[in-house]
Amino acid sequence: MAVHRRIPLDVLDTVHIDLATLSLLGAMQALLLAPLLLAATRVYSGRARTSLRIWSTVLLLQALGWSLLALRGQISDWLSIVLANGVLIVSYAESARALRLLLQVPQRRRALIAIGLVGWLVTTWFWRVQPDYEMRVYVMALVAGSYLSLLVWPLRHALRPGGSGAQRAMLLVLLGVCVTWLLRLGELTFSPALGQGLLTATPVNVLNLFYSAIEPVLASIGFLLMYNESAQAELKRLARTDPLTGALNRLALDEEAERLFRRSATGTGHTCAALMIDVDHFKVINDRYGHAGGDLALMALATRIDQHRRAGDVLGRAGGEEFLMLLPDTGMNEATLVAEGLRTDIETMHLELDGEPQALTISIGVAVREPTDRKFATLIRRADRALYSAKRAGRNRVATSQESTAPSREWVADTL
Ligand code: GH3
Ligand code: MG
Ligand code: MG
Repeated sequence: MAVHRRIPLDVLDTVHIDLATLSLLGAMQALLLAPLLLAATRVYSGRARTSLRIWSTVLLLQALGWSLLALRGQISDWLSIVLANGVLIVSYAESARALRLLLQVPQRRRALIAIGLVGWLVTTWFWRVQPDYEMRVYVMALVAGSYLSLLVWPLRHALRPGGSGAQRAMLLVLLGVCVTWLLRLGELTFSPALGQGLLTATPVNVLNLFYSAIEPVLASIGFLLMYNESAQAELKRLARTDPLTGALNRLALDEEAERLFRRSATGTGHTCAALMIDVDHFKVINDRYGHAGGDLALMALATRIDQHRRAGDVLGRAGGEEFLMLLPDTGMNEATLVAEGLRTDIETMHLELDGEPQALTISIGVAVREPTDRKFATLIRRADRALYSAKRAGRNRVATSQESTAPSREWVADTL
């Protein structure tokens, strides 16, 4: 096999690019990056940690694969063709798995294994049984193309306006891989004499191996950026979620409320309603079943209330056993209907604590934004006043701000 054969192209002759060295350089970079990433996984947890670990294995596999390729002609072809192809195929499959795990899309493990196995068997066939270099490259291109599509497809959303920057960077890196494969196929198809052997210094092979040498670094940066983005999003979600009930916490509720309030510009037909929901005699439940039993009741309640949320509605835990539901573009009649539906649903909800059925009721205060409301707190104060009326009127009922004259409780005025 013609190894290190140079095509008399001026530029290549001048810079003396040795493709085996280039390939080993890429392998070295991957080898150095892998333990760095593995060490980094210690601070991560869950899905992100697993995906980073898989990515580190990808780098190790790539280091091994490219080293074996670089030694073509100097070691057995069994190693530098059959094993190298197998190892690189597994690395492609694993990179698709790592990325899909990070993006939380189905991993398609069976497809990944099937593509790899068939590709590897066919390339081995075209080496051992019916030796054909071109066919081997075509098959490897097909395998790489299938894996690339599994990598690229879940990233397509990044191209939308406002899409993830990290995912766009990763797309760009993968696009580079596609281009190098296409160039290689083009060269093989249109000037087959040039493309015999990966280590022959043709312009396309130089570009191909050069890109392969830096691709592990570029893709790892892309992967880390993507990881960082998803970690940030998860942190933001956790910072905005009430850990017990899964509803928005006060911080997030205030933010959402401000957003809705700004959007519900008065005078243009848009309005906004608030339902202040409070459990009746919740202390009794705590006294009877302990704090843990009370927690279970709160979780069941939050899940049930959440089922009444329509598209665009916001539900949050306003404090203790109180929830606030914000209904955009909703007038008083509709808001009262929602509240009444919610109240009767909770009244008939089957709740079991310590094996005993436990009835639970709620009172709801309903208020709608008035044209004169300048602050969100004014709307909430009215909803709270209505809630207070509902409590005074006997609980397990809905009261509206229009019918309530009760003074609001202090905490609402203070905190919202
Ligand atoms: P009502 O609203 O009908 O006037 O009576 P209530 O018994 O519900 O009265 P209140 O709102 O004053 O009491 C709320 C109780 O909820 C007091 C507090 O111990 C309990 N609570 C607040 N947060 C939690 C929680 O996270 N878990 C549990 N188990 N209890 C909580
Ligand atoms: Mg209560
Ligand atoms: Mg309360």
